[in-house]
Amino acid sequence: MSALTAYQALDTLIDAPGYAGSPLAIRGVGFASRPGTSPMDGLRVCRHPHEGRNVIDVKGIRIGAAAPVVMAGPCSIESQEQLLAVATAISQYGRFVLRGGAFKPRTSPYSFQGLGSQALKYLKQVAEHLDLVSITEVMDPREVELVASYADILQIGSRNMANYPLLREVGVTNKPVMLKRGFAATIDEWINAAEYILLAGGRDIILCERGIRTFENATRNTLDVSAIALVKQDTRLPVIADISHSAGRTDIAIPLARAALAAGADGVMVEVHQNPPAALSDNEQQLDLDEFRDLMQALDFAPRG
Ligand code: PEP
Ligand code: MN
Repeated sequence: MSALTAYQALDTLIDAPGYAGSPLAIRGVGFASRPGTSPMDGLRVCRHPHEGRNVIDVKGIRIGAAAPVVMAGPCSIESQEQLLAVATAISQYGRFVLRGGAFKPRTSPYSFQGLGSQALKYLKQVAEHLDLVSITEVMDPREVELVASYADILQIGSRNMANYPLLREVGVTNKPVMLKRGFAATIDEWINAAEYILLAGGRDIILCERGIRTFENATRNTLDVSAIALVKQDTRLPVIADISHSAGRTDIAIPLARAALAAGADGVMVEVHQNPPAALSDNEQQLDLDEFRDLMQALDFAPRG
């Protein structure tokens, strides 16, 4: 597609119903010429001096408000019993966001791919049973409507951060969207991806720093704490730190969570499994229930009566 055709396509998008917004919001990107301005200036997700921060209320859980939010649960939903066991343990420490993968983005096509729509049913049942809020990943634009009919928050995974048709599709639902940073994406690319969701009509956008690829191999990825501080400073969006996919290990969960919150994160995402060695995905990074308890205590979440 030529550059001109791409801009015409963008005009069509912006003029379409539900895409209300100034074209300048997009066109300003990369064209900032005033000295001292950031390439993100002009984006609607960015914060202007007179503006406050977005607080997203999902069934009473306020993401971006003063108290940190916890998003916890297994990497993959493996059965209803497994999800219920983990969710019951988690819910002892607060009314949290329950995570669990139904459609899994696996590196190997031979690895467990998730239970799909059956897992969505388990997620909804368990979340409603325990009065939790649910989040799960959607990978395919054709599955957005299905996933949105079960989950309270839609997650865009790291591998799909720059899947623009998918970003537009989640933007037209009325569900909050959590946009993970691509593991090789710059902050600018990440923020522009959020702008795609916003231009499609998405109002409730959460950013998630989940670690980027660096030369370091002691951790699976490198949690970019400076990115947390920067997007908190420059955008109005709440930011969650995923301490599981960034570290790829469990032994530094507590200091990573503390570092993320100290840098301004509005909460943490963490994978929890009742028997991590037997997990069908990411078994090295999922906390067991005792480790989750220790994390909650370290973050001052007292067990509920
Ligand atoms: C996940 O949270 O289930 C996941 C696959 O994470 P990421 O997209 O960050 O790799
Ligand atoms: Mn995982």
